[in-house]
Order: sequence, then structure tokens, then C-alpha cells
Amino acid sequence: MLCEFRARLAEGDAADRLLTVMLERLVEAGLLKSGGRQRTDATHVLAAVRTLSRLELAGETMRAALEELAEADGDWLLPLIEPEWDKRYGRKIEIGKVPGGKAGVTALAETFGRDGQKILAAAWAWDAPPRLRVLPQVEILRQVWVHHYYWDAAGHLRWRDGHALPPASLRFDSPYDTDAHYCVKRDTAWSGYRVHLTETCDSDRPDTVVHVATTTAPVQDGELTERIHDDLAEARLAPAEHVVDAAYIAPARIERALRVHGITLLGPVVPDHSHQAKSGGGFDKSAFTVDWDNEQATCPSGQLSRNWGPLLINGHDYIQVRFDKITCLACTDRPQCTTSATRPRALALLPTRELHEIQTATGWTSRPRTGSGATRSGPVSRPPSPRTSAPAAWRRSRYRGLARTHVQHVLTALACNLTRIADWITEPMTTRRRSTRFHALCTATAHA
Ligand code: SF4
Repeated sequence: MLCEFRARLAEGDAADRLLTVMLERLVEAGLLKSGGRQRTDATHVLAAVRTLSRLELAGETMRAALEELAEADGDWLLPLIEPEWDKRYGRKIEIGKVPGGKAGVTALAETFGRDGQKILAAAWAWDAPPRLRVLPQVEILRQVWVHHYYWDAAGHLRWRDGHALPPASLRFDSPYDTDAHYCVKRDTAWSGYRVHLTETCDSDRPDTVVHVATTTAPVQDGELTERIHDDLAEARLAPAEHVVDAAYIAPARIERALRVHGITLLGPVVPDHSHQAKSGGGFDKSAFTVDWDNEQATCPSGQLSRNWGPLLINGHDYIQVRFDKITCLACTDRPQCTTSATRPRALALLPTRELHEIQTATGWTSRPRTGSGATRSGPVSRPPSPRTSAPAAWRRSRYRGLARTHVQHVLTALACNLTRIADWITEPMTTRRRSTRFHALCTATAHA
């Protein structure tokens, strides 16, 4: 019964509606309001499936397809079964060290490959029952075989080298949860999902989780910034200030947040990685004066730029500004400006005046600023992760699939909110940040 209830919550946005109802009640009770300060952070979420090597994935995918076919139509499957398949696929695939090293691994993988190909060819034969080829595990078998095998020129099925695989965002890590994908962020590697939690952090009200977004692991944090703002605005809970870490910040996101929703996006300084900024005394981007009306820039030595035109870097639009080669080669400030021995200085500016001013005003360059800007209240320190008494409730999925994992996160957020509000009603000041026993002892000693 519980699993059916969860399945219903996973359909559409049913779980999110529960959170919406709670937040509406909190607004009515005066415990929550828009326009304050909120913070967002993300954490990794491990999928509720066993971690498999590539070889185990191939074997386990084949086994899962055989299990499903045996249940769906054992009579159809029986003539296809080879004598050694019971030993090979009769139980969970766990492969330790394979004799023969890399050649042994490839040979075993290609044995799995031939077995799988036999099943796929039979399922797609003209006389096979059409319902078999659309069974979920048979379709997963087909996709895993596309990801990990190829046909060579002689018509043999071959095991792909590791560097010839599709990106992690497309590959499956398990036949039992195809939404879970592998990802690496800083020093954490995992297969599963990410959860982005947004909570209020005003001193006069309880901290409340107001937005929960669950994504597959490879989705980058910055891709969520606009969605979070749009959702909060729709719920009439948009903050005045939104504190995030560097992964959510970009000049275009700062500009949009302010223009569309009136939200000031605050984040830590992203250092300018150009060699001019790193050297300390070099002429970084901020040392140049840009005249956007006349499409010209002036360098620290007073030279006006020669060229101004569009530039595409990794699919993003920029404006390239170039200076005169002869003047640059003769310039005495050249060592501070460029390391090129033969080329003039060039700049890659963000495509509009607003974005450029945000970029230079928020500390994206190391040069001290004197002007004022919409985000001059930054930089701010990294936001703490949304507080919760049970990190495992967020970081380990109990269910398979993105939709059910999201339901788990929303229900956890509801429980968190209830606990915090109960604490707040009982003892308002203690919900801000619970003191450790050691800290309480030190404080008591200091006041004694
Ligand atoms: S190298 Fe060129 S762009 Fe740089 S300061 Fe000298 S003249 Fe200006």
C-alpha cells in the first residue's frame, strides 16, 4: 500500500503540491514570508542500486533481461538458452579478478555481448511476439549494448575501450535504475542524483525549506538557478537576497535574477584565472575602460582598440576587442599586459554592458573596485548546507528512479520543516543553530 501511495506521489508534481500546501499554511500563520534572505546548496545523492563495474553491468543487464523474458514468455525463451547460461546468469553477477588481465576481461565481455545479441536478434525477429521487444529490461539491454559494444569491419561484436564510451550523462550505471548516472564534483565521485535545497535564513522566523529540486547527478548546479527563482516567484516566496555558492553564480544569472524577479544573487568571489590577474600587477580586464556606445576600449596606456566583433567560446557569445599590433609591440607596459611575443592584446568581453559591469563589479577580477553596483553587497561566504538532523535522508536514495527519489526528498523536507517549526514554537531562539554540549559548557564557563 505504501509503495502504491509513493507511486501516486511520484506522478506529476503531486509531492511538490504537498510542500506548497505546507508553505501556504506557514505564510498564513506568519511563520514564513517572501522578500527575506534565502540560501541554496546542493548535495550528492547515492542511487539505491549496487555499484557495478562495466563488466558486471553487461552481465547483470543480460541477467535482468533473461529474468524478465522468463517471466513474460518462458516458452519463447527456452529454445534460445545455451547450456552454460544457467551457470553464467542464474544468479547475481559478481565478478572479482578475471584471469588473463585486460584480454580476459575483453573476452568475457564479448561473451556477454554475443549472448545479449542473440536475445536481441530473436526478440526483433519478424515472428517474435512484439510485446517482448518492448519489455523494459529488453530495451535496457539494447541500449546498454549500444553504449558498450560496436561492430568491427569483419562483422564481429566488440567491447568498446573506456575512452570510446558515450558521456556519463547518457550511459546507464545499472539496469535497475537508468536515471542514476556517474558524476565527479571536486573530490566526490558517485552514481545517482543531486538534490538542491533552498531554505529561508531570517533571524525573526524559523528556517524553512521552501524549494526542493532533485536532478540527475551530471546536471550542473548553475542550471538550476533560474528554475529555483521562477518556482519561488510563482509560489510568491521569492527572496530579496539569495545566497549561493560559486557554482550557481554567473553574470547573466545575476542580471536575470535582478531584472526578472528583483532578487539580489549573492555569492563568493570567483577568482580571475587569467595570468594578468594571477601575477598581481598585471593588466586584467578591469584595467581597461570600455566605451559601449562607440564600441571601443581604452587600455591602461591610453591606446584605443582597433577591432570590436563577435566571438564564440564553447558555445557562449562574447565580444572580442583587439588592439593595434604595432603599438602593442612597442609598448613599454607590454610585460604587464600580455605574454605573447608576437601578438597584440585582445579582450573577450561579456556580450552586453550590463553583464560586463556585473562581472567586474562582483569581484570576478582581482582589482579593487570603487564604483557601486547592484551586487556590491557581495562577496559573501559560502552558504552552509541546509541544516538537517539526518544527512543520510538526503544523500542516499531509498528508491529507484528520479521521480521517487524526489518524493523522498520532498517528504524529508516536510519532516524537517515540521521539526524546526515545532522547535521554534517551543523555544524560538534555539532553532537558529543548536549549540553543542561542549560549546554550551564553554559559554557557561565564560559567564561564570
Ligand atoms: S600592450 Fe597594448 S594594450 Fe597592453 S598596455 Fe600596451 S598598448 Fe595597451
